[in-house]
Amino acid sequence: MAVYSLPELTYDYAALAPHISAQIMELHHSKHHAAYVAGANAALEKLAEAREANDFANINRLQKDLAFHLGGHTNHSIFWKNLTPESQERPSGDLASAIDEYFGSFDKFRAHFNATALGLQGSGWAFLAWDAIGHQLIIEQLFDQQGNIAAATTPILMLDMWEHAFYLDYKNVKGDYVTAFWNIVNWDDVAARFEAARSGAAGVLLV
Ligand code: MN
Repeated sequence: MAVYSLPELTYDYAALAPHISAQIMELHHSKHHAAYVAGANAALEKLAEAREANDFANINRLQKDLAFHLGGHTNHSIFWKNLTPESQERPSGDLASAIDEYFGSFDKFRAHFNATALGLQGSGWAFLAWDAIGHQLIIEQLFDQQGNIAAATTPILMLDMWEHAFYLDYKNVKGDYVTAFWNIVNWDDVAARFEAARSGAAGVLLV
């Protein structure tokens, strides 16, 4: 029985246009995200079969498959909820104060985040995360769906920089995609994730 399932979006595929087109949203959600869900479920089944047979000859490939596909499922589940057609434009309250405290100002935070996104070499994500050890917000650069991040940091705002996320709309002009992203951020969702992460209840709102 499948452990993971594709979540419904809380808005229509066309709702984020012109910032992200309906065509991209439909393909991205119903094809790309669905493939990560299927891949994560398949990886779990293969690992169970390996345990049953006591045959771990393919363990490295299976663990990589699980990390990649479960990473893809997790990242997209957060990303959809980070977006809204009714963006509040800027964070407010404790989240706004925390961004000012840890990055200097909202504009400095956004410049750092944009550079992180645009600097990616290949496929990956930029994200804002809560670091429970340093008790601070940090920005991380995620390679593919699972690499180059510190374990146990909690993502609260994620931006997909894979070409499938923007190429039909923006071609090679990544900067315009990143600029458009800031028009559709759901700061209420980001703030809820921030509060949950900061209070140690991250799992509740992780996806
Ligand atoms: Mn994607």
